[in-house]
Order: sequence, then structure tokens, then C-alpha cells
Amino acid sequence: MIRPAELIERKRNGEELPPEELAELILAYTRDEIPDYQLAAFLMAVYFRGLSSAETFALTDAMIRSGETIDLGAQLGRKVVDKHSTGGVGDKTSLAVGPIVAACGVPFGKMSGRGLGHTGGTLDKLESIPGFRVDLSYEEFVSQVRDVGLAIIGQTANLVPADKKLYALRDVTATVDNVSLIAASIMSKKLAAGADAIVLDVKVGDGAFMKTLPAARELAEMMRELGRRAGREVVCMLTDMDQPLGQAVGNALEVREAVATLRGEGPPDFTELVLTSSAHLLALSDLGVDEPEGRSRAEAAVAEGSALAAYERWIEAQGGNPDEAALPRAPVVIQLPSPEAGYVDRIAATRVGLGAVRLGAGRRTKDDAIDHAVGVICRKKVGDCVEVGERGRGAVGGSGPCERVLPRGGVASCAKDRPRASEVTLTSGMPPGCRRARPPGMRGSGATRRKAVA
Ligand code: URA
Repeated sequence: MIRPAELIERKRNGEELPPEELAELILAYTRDEIPDYQLAAFLMAVYFRGLSSAETFALTDAMIRSGETIDLGAQLGRKVVDKHSTGGVGDKTSLAVGPIVAACGVPFGKMSGRGLGHTGGTLDKLESIPGFRVDLSYEEFVSQVRDVGLAIIGQTANLVPADKKLYALRDVTATVDNVSLIAASIMSKKLAAGADAIVLDVKVGDGAFMKTLPAARELAEMMRELGRRAGREVVCMLTDMDQPLGQAVGNALEVREAVATLRGEGPPDFTELVLTSSAHLLALSDLGVDEPEGRSRAEAAVAEGSALAAYERWIEAQGGNPDEAALPRAPVVIQLPSPEAGYVDRIAATRVGLGAVRLGAGRRTKDDAIDHAVGVICRKKVGDCVEVGERGRGAVGGSGPCERVLPRGGVASCAKDRPRASEVTLTSGMPPGCRRARPPGMRGSGATRRKAVA
């Protein structure tokens, strides 16, 4: 039997803990046998001392063992692919990627989460669609993935209960942003949900948990290693979250933007990320295509309308009304014209996200109700030119923060270590050295282009 106080002390002193003791601590805490105050002290010791890769694996494994695991692949008789974003502002990628992948013949069954802090959550966005149900039973979920090819639901209650308890504790003890704890939290849920192959979108920048490229790369490497040890294929993309993704931030606004993207009318940066993610998922699937072929199929699904048709079938199957006119609209739209001419130097993604939360798009306490209609539309991207009086941002339902505009003639500077969408892709299950990079210097309207594979 472990003594929690002794484990706290050993971790505080920088000792590496044996996997079985770490596992027992986590499982006993999940069974309510250890009080919050001891786990909080342990998490703080981990925050300062870190976890080795063996300890991170033991933590992840214990978290998976705390609840049920799912084998969607066995039920479908297919290889199952999944995607996950570490969270950002305006990140509605799953809403567009799911229909594209399904339209290409690959089943897409995903368990998603709600908004966290300034970052939005897929479930909240989907609930802005009138009638849409995120609480399908597991049986309904499996049969919808089988029959319709696509379902996105909330996590079932008993999937990684350790993460639910630990996350709530981390949230109130300033221990969220530790690489090992984030990696274990995300990967325990992905591995327990049974995907054979996973595309991870690790966000980097002001609006992300990982503020710098080295920190994001460390998280990506750690999650890739956890996937490899569990025998899963993992592709990690490191993508820009120094400015909101696309233009729309806020639930119904983001659903509209995702649908526009499925029609081929989405903002360039968001469209690029959607197509890149879809290409990776198709390349990892059992279709037997490589990533360039996956990309062509994803583009064709959008161009031919099959992705939009898959979206409509999916929304109807989950009880929702796919008609865009049915989405809620805010009664007030406030334009924020630029007070001066110049180039957009920075768009503080976190402040935009928090502005949307203050309007009602997210929760300030866990019991807050969401106003699905409100949000912020950022019409300009970093590097864009603006004229005096030109619309930079519209706050829908209230007022939002202002972006900084450099006077014309000034050079719009970008953080040097900030990636654009798909700048770096780390893969496991592929030969070492199979990394993709884009040359520096691509900037401007936020349009991102795909890079040649190294
Ligand atoms: N998302 C998660 O699921 N867990 C974390 O710890 C951080 C982001």
C-alpha cells in the first residue's frame, strides 16, 4: 500500500517514481481513497519536477485503466482514425474534417469536449445547431458511424474518469500547463477511445496552451511516444495559434464558417488546415492512399459537394437541422473600424477568445449557460493591410478587444518561431526523417499553402 505523503516528498525532491507506485496513486485517487489536497500537492511537485517518459507512460496507462476502453474498430471491422486539437481560438476543424473524411469513405467517430478557458469546444459549437444531440448512447454512436459514416458525441461517462477528476483539480491548482500532464490527459482519452491512428494538431502561440515552438514540439514528441508505446500510429502537426483560426470565433458563427469551408468558400488558413488534416487522416486510414492522394480526394469531396452532403446527413442523423438559416443569429452587430491605416501586426488570440467568452460564447464558471449566437469575426489576418475606417473586426452581440495596427510603412513583424498551419509535421509509424517543413517567409493574408514533403 502506497503512502501518498511519501510519494509527494519523493517527487518534490526530484526522484523518479516506480510506475506501479504512480499507477496506484492515480487509481486510488480516482476511487476517492486519496483526498484532493494530497493530489494537488503531488501535481504541484510534478509541475516543478516534471515526469520522465517512463513516468508519463505509467500515468497515461493508469488513467486509461481507471475506466472503460472502447474498440470501435472491432465493432466496425475497419481501421479507425481520430483527430485531436490541443485547443485554440476559432478552432472548428473537426466540423469540416469529419464530413470530408466520411465523404471519402472513411468512418469518423469522435468523442469531443466542451470549451476550456478562452478556447472553444466542439460540443458547444455543435449544440448551436437546433435539435443536435451530443448525448447519443454508445450503441447509437456505433450504429451511426456504421450507417452514416460520421458521428461526434460527448465523452462517455466512464471513459478515463481519472482525467475528469485530475483535470478539474489541475484547473483550480495552476497545474494545467505541464507538458507531461497535458500529454497524459490527451493521450489517455485518445487511446481509451480505441483509434488505431491519430492526427494530433498541437497549437502553438498566444492562444494555445503551448506558447512557444520548442514547448509545442516537446508536447508533440511526448504524445507521439505515448502513441508509439501503445502501438498506435500518430501524426502530429504543429500549427499557428498566435491569431484566431479562420475568421469566426463563437459557436454558431464557427458552424457557419465550417459549412462555408465545405462549400469551398472558407478562409484560406482554415481551409488549408482542414485539407491538411483530412489528407493525413485519409493517408492513415485503410484506403491505402498516400498523403498527396488523400489531399486530392479531400479537395474533390469539397469541389463535388459530397463533403457538404455528408455534413447534412450527419447533422440530420443526430437530430439537428442542417439548414444554415436555422442557426441562431445575434440581434446586435458592432463593427470595429480601424482608427488608422497600416498593417496588422498582431491579433491577440487569447484576448479575442476571452472577449467571445465575455459575450457569452463560453463559460466563466462550469455552470454558465452558453449563448450560441454571439462571437467575434476577425476579417483581417496578421500582415494584412488596412485602411482608415475599414472593418477589422465585428463583435457580434457586444464589443471585443482591438487588434494592434502598425502605421503604414512600418514592417508587420511576425514572431520568429511561430509556425503557420502545417509548418511542421511529426509522424510516428513512418520512417525517421519524414518531416515536413515550409520555408520561412510565407506570410501575408494568413493564407497557408501546403509544403512539399521532405
Ligand atoms: N486538453 C486536454 O484534454 N487535457 C489537457 O490537459 C489540456 C488540453
